[in-house]
Formats: sequence, C-alpha cells, structure tokens
Amino acid sequence: MSAAAADPRPVCSTCGASPSDDEATALARLTWTRGTENGREVWTCDDCSRRHLRSIEGKLDSAWW
Ligand SMILES: [Zn+2]
Repeated sequence: MSAAAADPRPVCSTCGASPSDDEATALARLTWTRGTENGREVWTCDDCSRRHLRSIEGKLDSAWW
C-alpha cells in the first residue's frame, strides 16, 4: 500500500465534516459520495448521503436545498 498522506482530505459539501486522520480519509474515499459541481470535486459524507439520498437521486442542484 502506498502512503496517502499527501492526498487532500475530502470535506463534506453539505455539513463541512472532514476525516480526522489518514485512516478516516481512506475510509471516507470508499464510503462518501463523490460528485462534480461546476468543474470541481465535491464530497458528501455518508451521513449526508443517506439524509439527502432522494435529492441526490433526483439530481437536484445542491443550491435548491
Ligand atoms: Zn456531511
């Protein structure tokens, strides 16, 4: 396994949560939802993904919430 320490940590675009350490970052990259908004990468944590599942599946713009 290669070190992931240099990777930027994802930040939830909905609640602002971010992983506290490298282990949590690796987990977040597996469990969080990654999307693209206006050409940049946006992340949604697993809690928010569940909470907004219907909105995400409906492909509503996040500004609508
Ligand atoms: Zn969140």
